[in-house]
Amino acid sequence: MKHVRNKRIYKTLMINYLKAFALSLILGIISITILFTFSGYASSSEDPSYAEKFMKDDYNEIDDEYIIEHYGTMMVVNDDLEILKSAGEDPVQFMKSIIGQDVIEDEEIIENSKINKQYWNMFLYNLNRRIKGYDCSIKYNEDEHFYLITKMPVSVTFIFSIDINTSKEILPEALTIVVFVVLMYSIVLFIGMYLYSKITAGTFVKPLRELFDGVKKLEDGNYKEHIKISGNNEFVNLSESFNNLSDKLEYEKKMRKETEDNRKRLILDISHDLKNPLTGVVGSLEMCMKVYNHDDFNGKDNGEIRLNNNYNNLDQKLQSHDKLNHYLNMAYNNSLRANSLIESLFEYSKLENPDYEMNLKKIDFCEFIRLCILEELDEIEEAGIIGEYDIPDEPIYAYIDEKEFKRAIHNLISNSVKYNKKGTVIKISLSKDKDNIKLIIEDNGIGIDKSLKDSIFTRFKRGTQMNITEMSQDKSIENKKENIHKNEGTGLGLAIVKKIVNMHSGEIYLETDINKGCIFTIILKTND
Ligand code: ADP
Repeated sequence: MKHVRNKRIYKTLMINYLKAFALSLILGIISITILFTFSGYASSSEDPSYAEKFMKDDYNEIDDEYIIEHYGTMMVVNDDLEILKSAGEDPVQFMKSIIGQDVIEDEEIIENSKINKQYWNMFLYNLNRRIKGYDCSIKYNEDEHFYLITKMPVSVTFIFSIDINTSKEILPEALTIVVFVVLMYSIVLFIGMYLYSKITAGTFVKPLRELFDGVKKLEDGNYKEHIKISGNNEFVNLSESFNNLSDKLEYEKKMRKETEDNRKRLILDISHDLKNPLTGVVGSLEMCMKVYNHDDFNGKDNGEIRLNNNYNNLDQKLQSHDKLNHYLNMAYNNSLRANSLIESLFEYSKLENPDYEMNLKKIDFCEFIRLCILEELDEIEEAGIIGEYDIPDEPIYAYIDEKEFKRAIHNLISNSVKYNKKGTVIKISLSKDKDNIKLIIEDNGIGIDKSLKDSIFTRFKRGTQMNITEMSQDKSIENKKENIHKNEGTGLGLAIVKKIVNMHSGEIYLETDINKGCIFTIILKTND
């Protein structure tokens, strides 16, 4: 699979390079044609040569000063090859620079101001050739019969040319060289192109392979590994996005696992918590049946108590009645507990459901809290709890789901009543600052171990046994102890309170310690 991918990219690149090669060849040919076309433009034959420009019939009038000023050289020679006038470079040096033979003796070139015929011819022949950096020209004055030869430095000349001697002997050789050069050029270009395409393909294939391996790992559910691609190109950006994606998937996997674990734990907690009261119900009913079957309850009960084999006396029969009553009570209390657990569970699951929405309405929160307290008043007074309330008279507005929030307030107040002894003070106060509404429900009762102050809001979390034990030692609360036993908490009350408060975009905090009471503070946003 990898191999195929590699090959494909390589082939694509190769085709692209071939196209680029063809294009560069065409561009090369066009460029060379342009170069040839414009070659020699600066020294175009349409421009008159310097010799032509300076020519005068009287050679003494030739502007030799201009030539010297511009670092040029001039020489006037008659038909007898006598030098009539010269300026700039020494005539011998001038001729030698054109002929290009340093070895020649100066005297051989010019003898008694007369130029040697042989060297003159060589001079004329070479004069037509270009001399690097100079523009040489010759003009013959036909009326006065003299030559003017000039050598002027060029300012700008654009030269591109191939000189081919078309003599038949060297043409095949020249052609071979041209073909060889073109062939070598093509081979070198092709090898370069091949190597370049291989290297470039490598730079694509390596990060692609990394990405491909990464995707494979994602497919296998391994989101932890990150792709590492170095450099500064799109692959790096792609790998970063890829790593972000795997982080997200890893996070979601973790969340899924947490939800799944939560669900399993919830089922375990529910079954555990339901098991006790239901076992109690079954056990109590079994005991009832035993008492009923063992004792004779089938006799006619028309005021006369019938004694049979099983009863020795009236006391025994009364005891059996008490037993029966006791076990029925136990069964009833256990079913009450199971029922309250299921109700709380239903409430908690309803709030947990992401589709559940609060029915928020703008209300006067002060009035609402007053009504809640009113509804709890009987319970508070019956338990001998002292209530202190500080609710402002002027309205404080908030968006509240009245039904749900009432449940939260009820849970908090009934906890204070349920877990604390007679004479405990419960204070409920409400205040408002610029941004927040603060509702405090506090008591000075037995409190909760402070290590539990945050975790107590999680479901099925209950206070330490110490709370209960401590209460059982207090004889004045004998009845309440009984009550706790009957309606043993579900451990869901505070979890429900927190859910409800959070769903009102609020927060709840607890300050507590053993024997220091509980201070529950609810913070809500103001909505004036
Ligand atoms: P439940 O009351 O059903 O057990 P909660 O979530 O309402 O569940 O309370 C959790 C625990 O916190 C209780 O079991 C109790 O030990 C403790 N608790 C709550 N409120 C108070 C309070 N006002 N005073 C003392 N203990 C409290």
